Amino acid sequence: MSAPNPSEPTEKLNNPLKRFDLDGHDLPPSPAPSSPRNGRLRYALATELVYTESKDQYGSSSVPIYQSATFKQSSASGGQQEYDYTRSGNPTRTHLERHVAKIMNASRALAVSSGMGALDVITRLLRPGDEVITGDDLYGGSHRLLTYLAANQDIVVHHVDTTAVEAVQARVSEKTAMVLLETPTNPLIKIVDIPSIARLVHEANSKALVVVDNTMLSPMLANPLDMGADIVYESGTKYLSGHHDIMAGVMACNDASVGDRLFFVINSTGCGLSPNDSFLLMRGIKTLAIRMEKQQASAQAIAEFLESKGFRVRFPGLKSHPQYDLHWSMARGAGAVLSFETGDPTVSERIVEAARLWAISVSFGCVNSLISMPCQMSHASIDAKTRRERNMPEDIIRLCVGIEDVNDLIEDLSRALVQAGAVTVTLDGFHAAGAAKELGETPLTVG
Ligand code: PLP
Repeated sequence: MSAPNPSEPTEKLNNPLKRFDLDGHDLPPSPAPSSPRNGRLRYALATELVYTESKDQYGSSSVPIYQSATFKQSSASGGQQEYDYTRSGNPTRTHLERHVAKIMNASRALAVSSGMGALDVITRLLRPGDEVITGDDLYGGSHRLLTYLAANQDIVVHHVDTTAVEAVQARVSEKTAMVLLETPTNPLIKIVDIPSIARLVHEANSKALVVVDNTMLSPMLANPLDMGADIVYESGTKYLSGHHDIMAGVMACNDASVGDRLFFVINSTGCGLSPNDSFLLMRGIKTLAIRMEKQQASAQAIAEFLESKGFRVRFPGLKSHPQYDLHWSMARGAGAVLSFETGDPTVSERIVEAARLWAISVSFGCVNSLISMPCQMSHASIDAKTRRERNMPEDIIRLCVGIEDVNDLIEDLSRALVQAGAVTVTLDGFHAAGAAKELGETPLTVG
């Protein structure tokens, strides 16, 4: 593209919307827009995940990576450019943030370097003396951060059973600054009634912020902002990116002043997502629908298989889940994380170690299937006494289902169950050896 001569007024130069630098260069248009609120037709979510709008000068169909820490200014006084320094803003990150805002039904979204980074930014809205109400089956890392804030920043943290609305009601007061919810909880897969809790918290204290960790469901399956939450965040390391090749966190809200306060922290601390990781997260989000559909269909088949063998299975896609109706009143799917118990931690360890297709790994939301023992891995930062108090079974196995062939996954799991001695093999097939006995139920024998 040839630069217009600034001494010869052109149509472009007369256009007040166009900006030229001192040498008359037409500044490259920002690729940032993927605006959530431009009045255009909204499509189904699977379409919106893929559909982006951009003003890229070359019409690139995937957002360019602006791998630049600084952006040149057009005048000595700084000029009017949208970007000057990547800690404050970067076109690749802005494009991602607008796309995330759109799919989270938010007016503003922000992307940072991890899910915990997002919670760190959010909890910096708290002041000493503030009270936080949160769950007793919280992600281990969130528990660790809140424990740190309680010990060092004079924040009072109440862990209650957030699956009981009354337990939150009993704790909420004018000192409550934040209520932090996660649903389904993990690994106990308990369901939290977000709309009822948001309503009661706001009625009791209009300044309290209801914050939801939506990592387990992703915007594909739930939009907590539509249920009354003030801020929603999630680990982009999980379903949003989907391949376990980046760490990322996103947060979103609809109140502009809350958005500005969150941005202030990000700009001050420099935890904004890097341009390269913003590009990768954007790429991952485009396949969220197809991955999630496959993963949750397989998770359903695996949950039904394990239940049919007599194991106690926790999965909101099973009618036996005690909060099945509540979950489906809030979500469009069951997700792809389930847990089951064997009745014996040593047997559980043997199953985990015998599995081949299922990688022993923390985390979830990846295209590969994962198996873990949360009490020894992702939740090990919660001490054994607290785990006992919160009824977290030490033998619980968490399965995070990927996109492999579901029959291969079931076959590998069956082999691991047999090899670990977790099942009694009969001529008809096999059934759970310990779990059902432990629960006082009659084990099922299914071929
Ligand atoms: N929230 C939940 C429910 C998680 O499982 C995790 C990580 O496992 C996080 C938050 C933290 O995200 P990250 O690991 O990206 O910091």
